[in-house]
Amino acid sequence: MSARCPFCGATVMPRSRFCPKCGRALPQSPPLQHPVSPPAETGDPPIEGALRFDRAHGKRLQISDNTLDLRELINVVESSVQWWKRGLNSSDAVTREQAARAIDELSQIMRSLSQQLAQGRTTIRVTRRLPALRTFDIACPSCGSGNRAGARFCQRCGALLDATPHYGVGPVQPRTFTLQIVARTDTGRVRQQNQDAVYTGEIDLPDRQKAYLCLVADGMGGAAAGEYASHLAADVSRAYLERESANHPLPTDETWRALLRDAVRAANRRIYDVAHADAARRGMGTTLTIALIVGDRLHIASVGDSRAYLLNLNGVTDDGASAAQLTSDHSLVARLVDIGQLTPEQARTHPQRNILYRSIGTDPSVDVDTRSEALEPGDIVLLCSDGLVNHVRDEEIAQIALSDPDIERAATRLISLANERGGRDNISVVMVRIEGGRRSSFG
Ligand code: CA
Repeated sequence: MSARCPFCGATVMPRSRFCPKCGRALPQSPPLQHPVSPPAETGDPPIEGALRFDRAHGKRLQISDNTLDLRELINVVESSVQWWKRGLNSSDAVTREQAARAIDELSQIMRSLSQQLAQGRTTIRVTRRLPALRTFDIACPSCGSGNRAGARFCQRCGALLDATPHYGVGPVQPRTFTLQIVARTDTGRVRQQNQDAVYTGEIDLPDRQKAYLCLVADGMGGAAAGEYASHLAADVSRAYLERESANHPLPTDETWRALLRDAVRAANRRIYDVAHADAARRGMGTTLTIALIVGDRLHIASVGDSRAYLLNLNGVTDDGASAAQLTSDHSLVARLVDIGQLTPEQARTHPQRNILYRSIGTDPSVDVDTRSEALEPGDIVLLCSDGLVNHVRDEEIAQIALSDPDIERAATRLISLANERGGRDNISVVMVRIEGGRRSSFG
């Protein structure tokens, strides 16, 4: 049922795209078999009770040290069993098969916990989702932990790392894809103005390569200031990326992410300076979420609560979920969800959901979240402002984006749905569909 990682030998779930232990991209062909066949249609007794596991968001636990005492360890295990128990729904007796599936769910939760602990995370999340989307360029030869490109010593065990950056085995073989890109923004039903900004475009790189840039910015600060801030963030970061990536070859994920961070910081500095020089624009700010696609790699940078998702019908996580949010919301309500004060559902309608604790232009410097992912044919990268997610759930976003063969129509449908449900805020959607890869000729 399960397969093994060809690089480190760890057990990986079928359909995994990344090794949960070493973080490297797993070979995708021949396609791995789906792990569990659906319940047999023949000869099964009719189902009396239904034991279902409710996929609610998990709770988070803080692990402060590199060692856990026995009490902490037991607390981690017990918290996850409690969470699993709360998710079980049954009003009646259940079949052995259903019971077995529920126990499988519990072992997945435990597996996710152990992997998060092994990765050295200080906040571990009780969830059945494996921490597999996080990619690392270098696996430690000693303990298997992932490390960033350029690292000389393992961040976990201190062992000397192979100094040569690599992705998988052998030299990097970038693939190029055909991309379909669409961007839509809409004022919504309530606001007078659209303070969101979207941008999509190509950047010429050395070696006749191209990078594809997409971004969403969601301005704030009232009247003209919010609109000005989001467009200025888009312009400054775009110009920065165009200028810097044309001049320098950027061979690794880490250098791309550093460039994105610098571009976002340049936008931050400019907006901060304008806001301080111009009394009419004091206090303005914006979110900024950027996706940059280079070959078969996706690089993301984000500040605020505009999101990036990776969607694929065949699943993008180890448990086969078709949607993964690649960004964290830097909002008050997201923090309250993290510490268990709000459910994700309450957060979506919370009156203070617009309050951000991190945004562009409000402080002279800013922390920028970045990450890199491998792309596969059939993926959709979707960026959006909170005007979409306040009304449309992740599963609905994935379903609409992935089911419509026409991505322009899919983007329009997403915006229409948010408007039908109230359109309380400006709504922006940028989608990129990745189609059929062919090997590029450069090497
Ligand atoms: Ca907004």
